Amino acid sequence: MRISEMSGKECRELLAHEGAGRLGCALENQPYIVPIYFVAEGDSLFCFATVGQKIEWMRANPRVCIQADEIRSRDEWKSVVVTGRYEELPDDAEHEQVRKHAISLFSRRDAWWMGAYAADEIRKHAGDPIPVIFCVHMKQITGLRAAPDAGQTALDIAQQKW
Ligand SMILES: Cc1cc2nc3c(=O)[nH]c(=O)nc-3n(C[C@H](O)[C@H](O)[C@H](O)COP(=O)(O)OP(=O)(O)OC[C@H]3O[C@@H](n4cnc5c(N)ncnc54)[C@H](O)[C@@H]3O)c2cc1C
Repeated sequence: MRISEMSGKECRELLAHEGAGRLGCALENQPYIVPIYFVAEGDSLFCFATVGQKIEWMRANPRVCIQADEIRSRDEWKSVVVTGRYEELPDDAEHEQVRKHAISLFSRRDAWWMGAYAADEIRKHAGDPIPVIFCVHMKQITGLRAAPDAGQTALDIAQQKW
């Protein structure tokens, strides 16, 4: 298996195409990671959630990470890691336009709100779920791709070795 770096353009194409990955945040040296949908546009990843642990942690520490991948087999895959900053887009006059834009992007996917609202069903709290639109501003983006060696798969090499 050969590993090579992906260009910035290839990384962005994967994010735009996949639209789902894992969001990592951390509080007091404790990492926390959950699957999430996003929409990539420019240097931003737009997401929709309801208030729960990840939102509370990102409000306290806006340094976050998103990982997404495309896995065809154990020796043929692409993986992109983004580090960036969480910004909440509150429901106020200042953020009205960007929120409308984010919702128009979300609306390209059926039932885009479902994951966020379903999560609230198991939370033990009184009251309605509190929706949150947020953006991850990408600071750094890296991507790696793996491809099988011609005529030899990673499995072949592992079997020879072990
Ligand atoms: C493919 C996919 C896409 C998703 N897209 C979205 C999305 O766009 N927006 C969104 O808000 N949610 C989405 N979810 C659900 C998301 O992964 C979280 O489960 C959910 O958002 C609740 O996270 P929270 O931090 O608010 O947890 P809380 O409701 O506050 O619950 C915290 C507790 O539940 C546990 N927990 C929470 N989520 C998970 C999990 N996924 N797996 C195992 N344990 C968990 C935590 O460890 C913690 O103990 C998606 C899930 C999947 C599988």
